[in-house]
Amino acid sequence: MEKILQQALEYGKQYTPIGKVASYIPELHKSSQSDLGIYIKTLDGKGYGVGAYDKKFTIQSISKVIVLTLALMDKGCEKVFKKVGVEATGDPFNSIVRLELKHLQKPLNPMINAGAIATTSLIHGKNGTEQILRILEFAKLLSDNPEVDINQEVYESEIKTGDRNRSLAYFMKSSGVIEGDVESLIEVYFKQCSIEMTCQDLARIGAIYSNNGLCPKTHRQLIPKTICRMVMAIMTTCGLYDASGEFAVRVGIPAKSGVGGGILAAVPNKLGIGVYGPALDEKGNSVGGVEMLAYLADRLDLSIF
Ligand code: GLN
Repeated sequence: MEKILQQALEYGKQYTPIGKVASYIPELHKSSQSDLGIYIKTLDGKGYGVGAYDKKFTIQSISKVIVLTLALMDKGCEKVFKKVGVEATGDPFNSIVRLELKHLQKPLNPMINAGAIATTSLIHGKNGTEQILRILEFAKLLSDNPEVDINQEVYESEIKTGDRNRSLAYFMKSSGVIEGDVESLIEVYFKQCSIEMTCQDLARIGAIYSNNGLCPKTHRQLIPKTICRMVMAIMTTCGLYDASGEFAVRVGIPAKSGVGGGILAAVPNKLGIGVYGPALDEKGNSVGGVEMLAYLADRLDLSIF
């Protein structure tokens, strides 16, 4: 396994120079363009990592998977899917355009920013502080890492520059998709995006999804099987924004990317994968990360299709 991972890394490294590190969140721009790493966690507990697999980065949109799962556990699928749909958009992750279409009335899916902000609003808690604490606790539980925390610098950078997300939230409040205090909601959303992890943490989370929500280490059912299945389906159809179709055709693994450069992937009944490579393509996905996953999917026959 180490040898094949090393080969995947070398293959992926060829692509990092063509990507760009995200700059619209200024703090993210400090990441190193050439960093690339991957970690694989198999369901029998073995782990393999190469490259920058131990480097911390903010999970950004990968948090949408964790928060969707928790919202489904808190509220049940009927209430959640009343507020957010499950259809792919074909639009960029921060697009606002479809929110005004009369026949829609709700964001298309929980993996784009609008849908994710609506999903965050459904997390149980008296206030934003309680909501983010519950999200963070759940992230710690899934990653089996009590040290997981929020990167304060990235959070502050997002708060200062996140007017696009604020616009999405205010728009959704005006159309009745969300209720309550928008500023407090947006703080929770930026905090969940600023949760920091390594590829190893992501791979452990991936292993839980690939094992139908059952923790391979403790044998505790951390996520109900039906919820796990729904979230994996949404990852497959919407996880890489408007590149999800292409990724499904080329790689065929349920996955979710983030503009920090991370990708969480879960191969059903086999393994969890965490990837880090902050050089992004024009759609906001890790260039080297996608290439490494394509390489591995091909060599290890990982496509679910
Ligand atoms: N925090 C980022 C944003 O809302 C997350 C986006 C992403 O990872 N695609 O813009």
